[in-house]
Amino acid sequence: MIYFDNAATTAPYKEALEAYMTASEKYFYNTASIHQSGKDAARLLEAARAQILELMDLKKYDLVFTSSATESNNIAIQSMLKKKKQFGKTILTSELEHPSIVNVLEEMKKDGFTVKYINTMADGTVDIEHLKILLNSDVVFVTVMALNNIIGSVQPIKEITGMLKDYPKIHFHVDATQAIGKADLGYNGADTISISAHKFNGVKGIGGLFVRDLATLRAVQYGGGHEYNIRSGTVNLPGIVAMAKALRLTLGEAREVNKRLSRFNEKIRDAVKDLKAVYLQPEAAPYIVNMSFAGAKGEVVVNALSKRGIAVSTTSACASKLATLNETLLALDNEDKIIEGSIRISMGRNTAEDDVNKLITALQEVYEELGDVLK
Ligand code: PMP
Repeated sequence: MIYFDNAATTAPYKEALEAYMTASEKYFYNTASIHQSGKDAARLLEAARAQILELMDLKKYDLVFTSSATESNNIAIQSMLKKKKQFGKTILTSELEHPSIVNVLEEMKKDGFTVKYINTMADGTVDIEHLKILLNSDVVFVTVMALNNIIGSVQPIKEITGMLKDYPKIHFHVDATQAIGKADLGYNGADTISISAHKFNGVKGIGGLFVRDLATLRAVQYGGGHEYNIRSGTVNLPGIVAMAKALRLTLGEAREVNKRLSRFNEKIRDAVKDLKAVYLQPEAAPYIVNMSFAGAKGEVVVNALSKRGIAVSTTSACASKLATLNETLLALDNEDKIIEGSIRISMGRNTAEDDVNKLITALQEVYEELGDVLK
């Protein structure tokens, strides 16, 4: 199978798997145990934590290890809002967020919060001017993702951080899950930031939540008090060590990988741009190309490509319980037929030119096969 679904998950680096194995064999101990082996494991945990904070340029932050970005987003939103209730009731977010943000916010409405959505510009970034208008003394929480998982648009996080300096009451959360190695780092000033190792060639089951001030968080699940009492449960040390390794390798090769993927992105776009009834979403981070076969269903295109040995994903599935069509594509004012016929092609460090050539041939074959269905 030729893999073009790297926004869903990535293949782990061999080095990350080796680090996982070594830590599992030599440091399988519980980091909370007070015997010498436990202490050695705890030392390794703290070394990995320090390395990740340094690589992310967030040395003054704390880092809470979690199982995934979904968990990180839940902890940030749920714990923080419990504390904020008395200060205000309005939450602002983009229209482009992942369900692990939107669905949590929608749930918070039951606790009396109001959720307002920041408009989206034609290029898929949030409308900063609209955000300015929405800001008022009742706003306690703003959450904007760093890089969108459907079309790859990179959000102006630094600009938003700067703007929110005038509102010290507001907690600013950034879901950076898709951004690692894809967009420049620049999260200093945000209050919490989520990441997930399996999106940058680490292993699954490990994520992180960077925190500017631990006092702003509260546990959403209770237990033995691990991870600063925010996320109890025996720490996944092998996953953490593998995440540190994957992060270092990802950031080290990001420039070269992005340069290559930019070229591939252009090549794919060029191959389909003149085809009738094929629509391309705006160009953004190089690893994603989102295109639609208007008149067809995205699932049909995905299956036709799958039969040819190519893995892509559809974006027509509903993104959250809010909408029946993908919200990112809706926010960009796409017609229903474009949303329903959309597929997401997402490349990664292992994508080769030959893979791209095979994808283009397959896209052209599927296009011919669909024939009159397209309009
Ligand atoms: N946020 C974004 C932007 C994502 O793309 C994803 C993964 N699809 C998540 C959060 C959830 O990540 P995880 O799989 O680690 O829970």
